[in-house]
Amino acid sequence: MDVMKELGFPEVFLRWIMECISSVTYSILINGQPCLPFPAKKGLRQGDPLSPFIFAIGMEYLSRSLMQLKADPNFNFHPKWLEANLDKSNAYICGVSSDIQQQIMLTLNIPPGGTDCSKKALVAWSHMCLPKTAGGWNIKDMEIWNKAVVCKLLWAITHKKDRLWSRWVDGYYMKGRPIADVHCPSTMSWSLKKIIGCKELVTNVGGWSAVEKDGCFSIKPMYRKLCGDHPKFPWRRLLCNNLATPKSLFIMWIAIWKRLPTLDRLFKWGVVTSEVCPVCSMCSESAEHLFFTCTLSCRVWQKVLDLLHFKRRPEPFGNEMQWVIKSCKRSGSRHKLLGMFFAECICSIWLNRNEVVYNQVCKTPEMLFRQIQFHVASRSSDVLSSTLLNLSR
Ligand SMILES: [Zn+2]
Repeated sequence: MDVMKELGFPEVFLRWIMECISSVTYSILINGQPCLPFPAKKGLRQGDPLSPFIFAIGMEYLSRSLMQLKADPNFNFHPKWLEANLDKSNAYICGVSSDIQQQIMLTLNIPPGGTDCSKKALVAWSHMCLPKTAGGWNIKDMEIWNKAVVCKLLWAITHKKDRLWSRWVDGYYMKGRPIADVHCPSTMSWSLKKIIGCKELVTNVGGWSAVEKDGCFSIKPMYRKLCGDHPKFPWRRLLCNNLATPKSLFIMWIAIWKRLPTLDRLFKWGVVTSEVCPVCSMCSESAEHLFFTCTLSCRVWQKVLDLLHFKRRPEPFGNEMQWVIKSCKRSGSRHKLLGMFFAECICSIWLNRNEVVYNQVCKTPEMLFRQIQFHVASRSSDVLSSTLLNLSR
């Protein structure tokens, strides 16, 4: 942390890093029952995507220290100096011509590292930016946010008459006229044209009064108004306030959008030659089959329904989803757990299906069920945990 402070990283960024490395929790299975998560005192999770960056910062500090030390005649390499494992190393080069790249690669004798960015997105980015209630992830649409921020500058021109630059724009271009009557002359600077050009946006959202808070312009309401209203999705209940792991919520979300690359879809695109379910080899693999008509997933979901005391036989995905949505409307720990189990089930079944396709390894329904139960238990609040414990007895 001191090193990063020394390197000039902003305070807020340092807090984020500390949050990432100090909020790690672990949970272990004791006699098949997961214990309550306990916090780790320090360190990142193994394989955390953050660790290479922290490592790079550490290396930067080390190399700077070595630069200082090289003037010291007593400083020398230790005979047992560690050597880099070339089999585990990759070289990443950017910002130089291909000739120089070639030379560096020849000198280093380390295989080049690559980033595979060409994968096609399963769901459009615009869907990700929708509010959670409208079936998205509430991610800021930076283009619209930028417009909202520029509107703040326009507000400053019209309202902040104590600022010198506002007074200059007013005196030079607006000449006391209201902003609606101002036309941009060709001599006006590009940025000022863009700012004045936002006046239509303000009119469209209902004028300044619609986006002012305590007499000041507020970017957030402006952004919301620019985004517009979106119809609420009935399955928002599955995403909102669901304590399941983010990964399983995300896979469930893709499944709901019907975008999981199941074999029936890949077969239609001509990517694969067979659409037979790799798990049961009995019928075509579609989302409807995989959740929960396939023999394996049917047994897993049945175990979940039995555990939560729901008298019901598993049905295809669409029906099951409708039923879970309806059940999630009701209060009570059992219904809350059902939403969590639904997400974890879809995730585990999907990941198991991928294991079958790529590694020809298939878990038993019991193993999958235990894994799902563990994930739910480790994410549950105290109330949900005790309900789960009572139900498991
Ligand atoms: Zn199947």
